[in-house]
Amino acid sequence: MKMRQNFELLLPKKIIFGAGSVKKVGDEAKNLGGKNAVIVVSRGMRKREGFKELTESLNRQEIGSKTVCEVEPEPKIEEIYNCIKTAEAEVEEEVEADGGNLVIGLGGGSVLDVAKKVAADLGWKKIMIPTTAGTGSEVTHEAVLKVEGRKRAFVDELLTPDIAIVDPDLMKTMPPRLVASSGIDALAHSIECYDSKRSNFLVKTLASDAYKILKENLRKAVEGDEETEKEGKAKEEAMEKMALGSLMAGMAFGNSGTALAHALSYPLSNEGIPHGEAVAMVLPYALEFNGFDASVIKEVKRIIKDLRIGRAIKTEIAEMAEVVMQDEKHLSNNPREVRFKDVVQIYENLKNEN
Ligand SMILES: [Zn+2]
Repeated sequence: MKMRQNFELLLPKKIIFGAGSVKKVGDEAKNLGGKNAVIVVSRGMRKREGFKELTESLNRQEIGSKTVCEVEPEPKIEEIYNCIKTAEAEVEEEVEADGGNLVIGLGGGSVLDVAKKVAADLGWKKIMIPTTAGTGSEVTHEAVLKVEGRKRAFVDELLTPDIAIVDPDLMKTMPPRLVASSGIDALAHSIECYDSKRSNFLVKTLASDAYKILKENLRKAVEGDEETEKEGKAKEEAMEKMALGSLMAGMAFGNSGTALAHALSYPLSNEGIPHGEAVAMVLPYALEFNGFDASVIKEVKRIIKDLRIGRAIKTEIAEMAEVVMQDEKHLSNNPREVRFKDVVQIYENLKNEN
């Protein structure tokens, strides 16, 4: 460790972790002074058990709630405007004056990013509950939205959630492909923020433990583990660890940033490939470029191949490389300097190997 450390950490006021913890949302909302909640979810979420538990918990505390938007993956900035309009229509003047309005996000990273931005723009309190493991968005002060067809990261202290509730039970129904791609995204967060130029001692401590947990449990969470008990139980336990690892990686990268793999993933998501899948596709190549542990690269590649993660890329390589080179935010964090020709080479390898 360097002798002198200077850093700032931004995290929610309270982080709640554990199976069944979604049922605490009503108490937490009440503690925040909440009287009226608008809920942001992904499509299909309202039919799920987790949503029912959330609204029941709010009802128990007599907090009114209304679902104001259903977010699609890789959301556009326009969704924020629409969502704000609907949320404002729900407001009673008295509650607004009291600061009693809050936004609750229940879903994957895209949902939480929209919920955070809506709450920040309205100046309302926010509670974030992830259903994937994950983007770590429940603890970061960043929201990624598409502006004129291109992904853009909004970074603002006001985006920091007040409360994060991580309930592994909400992740039980994730299909294996989603467990794998979002798990690889979380793994990428832990690796990239550890080596980031903006990293610090505390971030590294969180990131290295997150990395160990995620690496150990990724495959088991996808497939189960034949050696231990029944498949279902082992899978459930591994999923809980993935939720923990994802949370820790989020706490770390939110305070130090990600690097090359995330820069390489953005042009793919501009084409519509969801974040987790896009990061999974490029992660092995970014790690190879940075000289990372070969056994991890091999393992990630194997999971990607087994689960058929990855899609055909339509955009010209040079065009994608241009977009990456403009991404100063991520590239300046990368431990190794990245040139245009390096990016072109990486995309060529990716295209040829898939
Ligand atoms: Zn990510």
